[in-house]
Amino acid sequence: QAKQQGKNCFHIYNLELDRQLHAHREALNRVEQALENEEFELYFQPKVDMQQGAVFGAEALIRWRHPERGLVMPDDFLPLLENHELAIRLDAWVIDKALQHMENWQSRGLELQISINITARSLQTDDFVLQLYYAFERYPATKPAYFELEILETQALSDLTLTSQVIKDCQSLGVQFALDDFGTGYSSLSYLKHLSVETLKIDQTFVRDMLEDDDDLAIVQGVIGLAESFRRQVIAEGVESIAHGIALLQMGCRHGQGYGIAKPMPASELAAWIKEWKAPAEWKISDPYQEH
Ligand code: C2E
Ligand code: MG
Ligand code: MG
Ligand code: MG
Repeated sequence: QAKQQGKNCFHIYNLELDRQLHAHREALNRVEQALENEEFELYFQPKVDMQQGAVFGAEALIRWRHPERGLVMPDDFLPLLENHELAIRLDAWVIDKALQHMENWQSRGLELQISINITARSLQTDDFVLQLYYAFERYPATKPAYFELEILETQALSDLTLTSQVIKDCQSLGVQFALDDFGTGYSSLSYLKHLSVETLKIDQTFVRDMLEDDDDLAIVQGVIGLAESFRRQVIAEGVESIAHGIALLQMGCRHGQGYGIAKPMPASELAAWIKEWKAPAEWKISDPYQEH
């Protein structure tokens, strides 16, 4: 009797697994189709120098303009692509599109540092550097020095030797690197000396809660100090209020990005936003060099 039941269970489990695999395949096909139909779009979130009150760049964040579901956020479809070659194709699309926007802004006199997010798997493909080189050839007005690749700290550690080599190869083209969601990697910090990234990007969860939570404040302060010791730049994401900006400036971090400055917006709105934006007066007062 029990044996019989066990058998049935196994049968049901198999059906469920089968259904899930099928759904996953369908979803992947749908993403592939979306790529061909140009349903993806890049939004841009400004990056500012809070001390100078100046916009110096923007991060490209992907959106899926789904014909039925409306605007779909990356967390709703990127996990599907994990460990799939489609993720690599999507990253290639992002590079091309971001450079296209960059060239367009460039031609209108807007020199911005444009950051994109790239998965470590893409970075680790054989011809990544060559593909990046070709991408710049397609958009000859863009300057590699103004292009930044953000990789997740957690992913950068997956194959440290390879990743650090590819980073160096890409840097010889002139591009820059940032370690995204920095502080969430839980690992020994000694790996930092092997990664020649220019910038550490403090994870937004620490920044968001640092005004209420002393532990988060300590982490933010720690990352800022670490960046200083390793002579790297530092930027805070998750700057949700003027108070966040003041605290960051006091700790010596002048670069910020977050809803308190601007939410990600369609590319077509960025130039007008930059023209209008003024840093809160409170940030200038907290500028320690103001009086000199
Ligand atoms: P991320 O690169 O760490 O980007 C920051 C995320 O936090 C973005 O979410 C952004 O909209 C959001 N954010 C920015 N400021 C604030 C704030 O002040 N408060 C809060 N609560 N959130 C803020 P988004 O656009 O949903 O992207 C989520 C993640 O998806 C990104 O995290 C990145 O890891 C990934 N991603 C986005 N676009 C791409 C892409 O084109 N390619 C790849 N490979 N990954 C991408
Ligand atoms: Mg990012
Ligand atoms: Mg991040
Ligand atoms: Mg993130």
